[in-house]
Amino acid sequence: MIYLDYQATTPLAPEARDAMLQWLDGPEGTGFGNPHSPHRMGRQAAAAVELARDRVAALLPPGGRVIFTGSATEAINLAMRGTARPDGQPRGSISVSAIEHAAVLDTARALGGCHELNVAKDGQCNTAQDMPDDVRLVCVMQVNNEIGTIQPTLEWHRKAKAANALYLCDAVQAAGKMEVAGADMIAVSAHKLHGPKGIGALWVRDGLSLDPLITGGGQEADLRSGTLSPALCAGFGAAAKVAKDRLADDAAHIEALWNRARELFRDWELNGSSEARWHGNLNVRREGLDVGRLMSEVRDVAFSAGSACASGSGRTSHVLKAIGLTASQAKNAIRLGFGRYTTMEQLEDAAKRITCAALQQG
Ligand code: PLP
Repeated sequence: MIYLDYQATTPLAPEARDAMLQWLDGPEGTGFGNPHSPHRMGRQAAAAVELARDRVAALLPPGGRVIFTGSATEAINLAMRGTARPDGQPRGSISVSAIEHAAVLDTARALGGCHELNVAKDGQCNTAQDMPDDVRLVCVMQVNNEIGTIQPTLEWHRKAKAANALYLCDAVQAAGKMEVAGADMIAVSAHKLHGPKGIGALWVRDGLSLDPLITGGGQEADLRSGTLSPALCAGFGAAAKVAKDRLADDAAHIEALWNRARELFRDWELNGSSEARWHGNLNVRREGLDVGRLMSEVRDVAFSAGSACASGSGRTSHVLKAIGLTASQAKNAIRLGFGRYTTMEQLEDAAKRITCAALQQG
């Protein structure tokens, strides 16, 4: 199987796996301690959690703290619901880009006062557009999960500040791949950067207070209750460290893959900008393509039709719709995601199978 679905999830880094194993068994079987226990085993596990926290924080701006969560979806909910005071009722509108992940869009709609920011054909959410006067929270993601386009997050942060609103940046597809700059809150996920599934984090700017989403023992600075998994934390931390250490090497490798992928799919239409984009994401369409048939014909390549969440639902991708594609154009699109462990041979082999099968459809 050739894996080309890096936006859905990424292969676990061997370094992350090794780090996790220690906290599943550990030396002489003592690695299973509760990191919130005061005895030696507990303190050792707590030290591993804190090392992991520092490593994740090193991918994010200075001046904030990292709160571990069970996923980025939970981190986003904590950010959006945790700032919806008083009484859990939003005190104003929430401006969200039309191409946000469902974790943001559905939460904004559930909270009420959701205002959608337009996105242009190239996938850019322009900062010149108006927001409601009562805006309290602005959510514009850094890298889109379907089309890879990169937003001017620093400008959005400035604009939110000027409007007296908070800025939440969903950096799930950016962290560990590029610099993640200023925001009030930043959501990240381990499994998108070669860490394990089941752990994410919310970075919260110093001085900003939130209401907890999950109450109980208050283990994560009273903002998130529940016993942390040292193994998941250590895996996340190790993956973050490798990502930081290899940032330039990974980027160079992905650039070479991107250039080759563009050649191999030169007859296909690119969805979204080619420049302001993470180059590990190639979202392309071909008129008349039956994507369902293509996927069943090219079974030993793992790739996606739109986002992992939308594919299979039969719904038109809200992202492709937002950039002006018709429903039938959106249905002709595929997403190839590649990265650190993709070889040039794998990319070429997969592209050959996909383009040949597509050509045979006529
Ligand atoms: N935001 C973006 C941009 C994503 O791509 C994803 C995962 O697909 C999420 C949020 C949710 O992340 P998690 O799987 O950790 O809940």
